[in-house]
Amino acid sequence: MISLSKKEFLEMPVEEFIIPAEKVAHVQLGNNVEHALLVLTKSGYSAIPVLDPTYRFCGLISARMIMDSILGLERIEYDKLADKVVDEVMDENIATLNVHETFSKALELVINHAFLCVVDDAGRFVGIMTRRVILKQLKKYVYQS
Ligand code: AMP
Repeated sequence: MISLSKKEFLEMPVEEFIIPAEKVAHVQLGNNVEHALLVLTKSGYSAIPVLDPTYRFCGLISARMIMDSILGLERIEYDKLADKVVDEVMDENIATLNVHETFSKALELVINHAFLCVVDDAGRFVGIMTRRVILKQLKKYVYQS
């Protein structure tokens, strides 16, 4: 990295640090939670995006949300996995990052999230920006000579 001033660093566009949508494991509205659990378990990710058929970002779903949704008083009701859809279980209250936003905004949001979902102006899912990628850039900046 060429030596950057603090202002230049914070104003870098996030676009170049995004893991593109086609490389991001996701589920679609209407998928049952059994499918979501399968994708989460096979990918090893803690949470994945839920998209609508036009690729609009709708929320996040995690294994924990799924397990909570099938927790009965006496037992885990595994038989409910096939009947519940991700729409009922996902968290819709997720802060997103616009693709035209700067590194400064990403840094602010990533404090509370392991990864950020990036959307375009129409709310369509563009990809994710992970805390790992942001910390790597921050480390490069801090140790630049
Ligand atoms: P990492 O920084 O690679 O450990 O990723 C942090 C979190 O970002 C993971 O636990 C996932 O929830 C999410 N994530 C990272 N890469 C992907 C991907 N390719 N597809 C879906 N989710 C991802």
